[in-house]
Amino acid sequence: MKQNSKKIVIVGGGIAGLCAAVYALKCGYQVEVLEMHDMAGGLAMSWCRGPYTFETCLHWLVGSSPNGEFHAQWQEVFDIERLTFVNLEEFVRIEAESGDGLSIYTNVDRLETELLRRAPQDAVAIRDLTRSIRSLGKFRMLDPSGGLAGNWLNMLRDLPVFPLLGKLSKMSGKDYGSRFADPLLKSFFSTGDVGRLSAIAMVLSLAWMNTGNAGYCIGGSQAMIRLIEEKLSELGGKIRFKARVERILVENDTAVGVQLSGGETVMGDWVISAADGHATIFDLLEGKYVDAATRKMYDEKELFASYLQISLGVALDLKHLPPMSTYVLESPVLLDPGNEIKHIGFRFFHFDPTFAPLGKTAVTSVLPTRNFKYWTALRDNNLAAYRAEKRRIADVVIALLERRVPGVRGAVEIVDVSTPATVFRYTGNWKGTMEGWLVEPGAGFKPLPNTLPGLKGFVMAGQWVMPGGGLPSGPMTARPAVKAICKHDHVPFDVHSEHVEKPEPVAV
Ligand SMILES: Cc1cc2nc3c(=O)[nH]c(=O)nc-3n(C[C@H](O)[C@H](O)[C@H](O)COP(=O)(O)OP(=O)(O)OC[C@H]3O[C@@H](n4cnc5c(N)ncnc54)[C@H](O)[C@@H]3O)c2cc1C
Repeated sequence: MKQNSKKIVIVGGGIAGLCAAVYALKCGYQVEVLEMHDMAGGLAMSWCRGPYTFETCLHWLVGSSPNGEFHAQWQEVFDIERLTFVNLEEFVRIEAESGDGLSIYTNVDRLETELLRRAPQDAVAIRDLTRSIRSLGKFRMLDPSGGLAGNWLNMLRDLPVFPLLGKLSKMSGKDYGSRFADPLLKSFFSTGDVGRLSAIAMVLSLAWMNTGNAGYCIGGSQAMIRLIEEKLSELGGKIRFKARVERILVENDTAVGVQLSGGETVMGDWVISAADGHATIFDLLEGKYVDAATRKMYDEKELFASYLQISLGVALDLKHLPPMSTYVLESPVLLDPGNEIKHIGFRFFHFDPTFAPLGKTAVTSVLPTRNFKYWTALRDNNLAAYRAEKRRIADVVIALLERRVPGVRGAVEIVDVSTPATVFRYTGNWKGTMEGWLVEPGAGFKPLPNTLPGLKGFVMAGQWVMPGGGLPSGPMTARPAVKAICKHDHVPFDVHSEHVEKPEPVAV
């Protein structure tokens, strides 16, 4: 076995921490992952209540198609072929209270027909949209660990779409939506964080859906997390749960290990933090290794919102409903102080048979909020009021659903509400954000530096070094983190072959 004697301690067992572990193990390092929760996944999470499973994360996974962009990188970290993907025909249906509805189909031809039928006055903008979806379908993301040498072929292939990419990256979703006169089409691009994001995010996602490369895997995000965990233990790695790191230990400006909340120390030759960026830099390292640019980033840059998730176990077969619906509300609803919602989204998980018994459906609604402090303070200072607020919001959500799906109220047998305080307790993400840095128009998806000035023996991975986050940010940031360590240690970065000691065949 080409194992080297060096050990990497990894803080956080979300997708990035797990991927970093697999890459490091493949390069022969000893690895110990320390995860504060009692299971792996971080934001890539679902939970069981009675016979229902409620997914929080997975809508689509870029790289789901065997021929698609990013599939090969998933193969480096787990056996993605063991997942079963479904490519839903309808991505989302947007419905006004009047009953007027617009379907966003994943197939671009069908989408074009639907949009032209509905909004012939927007024909020019619609054709421009569908042309963009078609041209971006083959777009190849650059490998952040590849440099020019590793990326020149992709850059050459992508050359024809660079002007389009440039144009869409500079525009916000809201600006993009303003090209359409149709109110529902406009609202598809402009609602919530989609409206603040660079328009490229949504158009590229539609492009990958059209090529079948942004499927949903049965079992949700935990199905893939379990397979990566399996790969990790197959390669001899160790993951410890309920192991909260309180401090990164530093000697002579070199990270030498970590201290857990109980006082135990875990030493290593390298520390990779795949945990929350703010906590890593300002708490675990006490803000000692931070330059002005990083401080400015954390002081000023916009994050994706946090969210409440209302999850309902419904004793009805809801297959007649689209997998995801957004209802435009005639009168806004107060979610939390100063925050009224004008749209509400529902996911009806009838397409995942592992989430509810036959004839029943797991239903979720994610309500974005930036009132993180309100929720954490309420939970800390007045648990009874916090619970009452959760109940109030669940009642509002059920009432809104009842307006669209008459009779559903009587069939709700499980109600579960998570808040930004829950997101923070279980993942440690700063301000309870759902994906880290929001990619604003003009900002681009360029990764952030994964080291800190003046600190050796330390690298970061995960959504805090890859604006836009998402599951692919796990391997995309874990790969360069481990590659940099290998380069420093003069260890070959060979992640295709697995450095697992195969037992010698025994002669009989
Ligand atoms: C509602 C929602 C929908 C989403 N939809 C999609 C989607 O459809 N497709 C997609 O690709 N992505 C989606 N995402 C984004 C995706 O889930 C995240 O970007 C990604 O999972 C982030 O992974 P990560 O490993 O960087 O961070 P995290 O998942 O936050 O992992 C960090 C881990 O570190 C642990 N940790 C933190 N502090 C400590 C400590 N001190 N000691 C030990 N452990 C610690 C945490 O418990 C956690 O397990 C969605 C996210 C949300 C919330």
